[in-house]
Amino acid sequence: MAKVKLPDGSTLEMPDGSSAAQLAEKIGPSLAKDAVAVEINGQITELASSIDNDVDVRIITLKDKIGLEILRHSCAHVMAEAICSIWPDTKLVYGPRIEDGFYYDIDLDKPITPSDFQQIEEAMAQIIKADVPIVRKQMAREQALERVAGDKYKTDNILRADGDVISFYSHGDGFDDLCRGPHLPSTGRIPSFKIMSVAGAYWHGDPTQKMLQRIYGTAWPTKKLLEEYLNRLEEAKKRDHRVIGKQLDLFSFNEAGPGFAFIHAKGMVIWNAITDFWKAVHDKYGYSEIKTPIILNEQLWHKSGHWENYKENMYFTEVDGLGYAIKPMNCPGGCLVYKSRQHSYREFPLRVAELGLVHRHEASGVMHGLFRVRQFTQDDAHIFCTPSQIEAEIIGVIELTFEIYRAFGFDDIHIELSTKPIKHIGSDEIWETATNALENALKHKNIDYKINEGDGAFYGPKIDFHIRDCLKRSWQLGTIQLDFSMPERFGLVYTDSDNTEKTPVMIHRAVLGSFERFIGIIIEHYGGNMPLWLAPKQVRILPISEKTNDYALDVLNKLKDSNLRAEIDMSNEKIGAKIARAHAEKIPYMLVVGPKEAQSQAVNVRIRAVKENKTLSVDEFIKAAKQKIADKKLDLIF
Ligand SMILES: [Zn+2]
Ligand SMILES: [Zn+2]
Repeated sequence: MAKVKLPDGSTLEMPDGSSAAQLAEKIGPSLAKDAVAVEINGQITELASSIDNDVDVRIITLKDKIGLEILRHSCAHVMAEAICSIWPDTKLVYGPRIEDGFYYDIDLDKPITPSDFQQIEEAMAQIIKADVPIVRKQMAREQALERVAGDKYKTDNILRADGDVISFYSHGDGFDDLCRGPHLPSTGRIPSFKIMSVAGAYWHGDPTQKMLQRIYGTAWPTKKLLEEYLNRLEEAKKRDHRVIGKQLDLFSFNEAGPGFAFIHAKGMVIWNAITDFWKAVHDKYGYSEIKTPIILNEQLWHKSGHWENYKENMYFTEVDGLGYAIKPMNCPGGCLVYKSRQHSYREFPLRVAELGLVHRHEASGVMHGLFRVRQFTQDDAHIFCTPSQIEAEIIGVIELTFEIYRAFGFDDIHIELSTKPIKHIGSDEIWETATNALENALKHKNIDYKINEGDGAFYGPKIDFHIRDCLKRSWQLGTIQLDFSMPERFGLVYTDSDNTEKTPVMIHRAVLGSFERFIGIIIEHYGGNMPLWLAPKQVRILPISEKTNDYALDVLNKLKDSNLRAEIDMSNEKIGAKIARAHAEKIPYMLVVGPKEAQSQAVNVRIRAVKENKTLSVDEFIKAAKQKIADKKLDLIF
């Protein structure tokens, strides 16, 4: 009998050779119905897998993230089968799952267009309706190579695969495909799907090769979830920061500098509001601030290692006949500031922040509004400390990071910890100390995190911060990276308590990542409806007619004296037109003033996106607005 340990700690006995599906059945019929795969001793595999020894087993359903990924990847195979059934000349290349869906790269001379999607979807629906088992077949590498002989894509996939055993998966008896798996038990387990789009893609990104067609699709556990997803995509289109940025006159791009953003006056108000807040929080957490040059001598980049590892993404120039580089990162400059004087353990931890302007070359095809640019301001900081201070410093950075995210309304924060990769520098001891410090800091803060084993940088482990916006899209923003390399390369030292010189630990960290990208993210998150503290114009006064212009000016002066960003619409238009314009510009508060308001020193307040308006005294309004700003409130209602 095989003894099986379940996630809740309980154990079950199963006859040797039982399948995971039989186990699910034994646990309960509803679990058996929902089961799509199984995790045996940490290994994700098919439900058909047998359970032979004493093992830890977890049944996976579509409620699991992994279950969803298996659903989507399995759907890619079903789509591939459907395409092959319609166009038998199709050569299949590669069909991975991606965030929210999957794609399949195919080599087919006939161009697939959106008008073909329905036909493909109908063929897929047939395959799903037939509910044929998805069956694994495995063989030795040579045998597999023989099997795919003549197919350069599949041959290449086998040559790139790890291990000596290669697997194929078949649906029914007609179709099979090379794949590592795992998959759903049968095609009928795909509840809802949709083909989304088609695009060109090069094989391994190699433009000398024939252009392939990449067909994107999505799959969800229910029709309702699919519909919600499609709605979110629609909503994302409406919130596109490039469109809103133009509408609200926040920023622009020009062919004079592809990938270099022009931030307009109103965009700068948002920028500066974020900067002021960022600086205040950093001050509170004991950071000082520096600014280092954008252009620095080539030699420095040899020393930092960027020349060897990052040259392709850097810009270069020449000054007085000597080679210079435009900084892609702020760290070397930060090291030079550190080195400009002696340091003692007594001043540690030393937290030095820099809003540094960096340039990184991105291919023209990947640029996307403010999300992918070639020049951006990184909200960087470097912390120099002793190994024993790492944990407390990480806790401090986590607290600071959460405080900043929450001010923007980002409460759904997810953390990943990346550990020692195979290729690394530094002793195992320092890696262990550092990784433990990161883990202990996360545990201390009671934070759930995901471990990416072996995914750290070669110079140290790291923590990444991901947030989800209101459309449930995930964005990686912040990072904390320990560095055992750069302090050595730059010969950074400090005098320790025993009077010996030692190398400090260097922690790189960023919270927002890139100011430009972050502003793009919040524009989409808020749909352009900026909370009061970030709104370029917070208040617009709308006189009903010329007769109340003087009173409107009095109100304006009062608002300005209170540091509110206010203006008056003195145009000759009717009040209805003034309101409509302020509404289109997403102004948080409109103050309508007529003779009645003038007489009582009051204002009639219209709040963005709120039907009812209310009349109150100017002073009361100012007090309420200032409170909203001080509290960084996301809502405007008072
Ligand atoms: Zn597969
Ligand atoms: Zn750095």
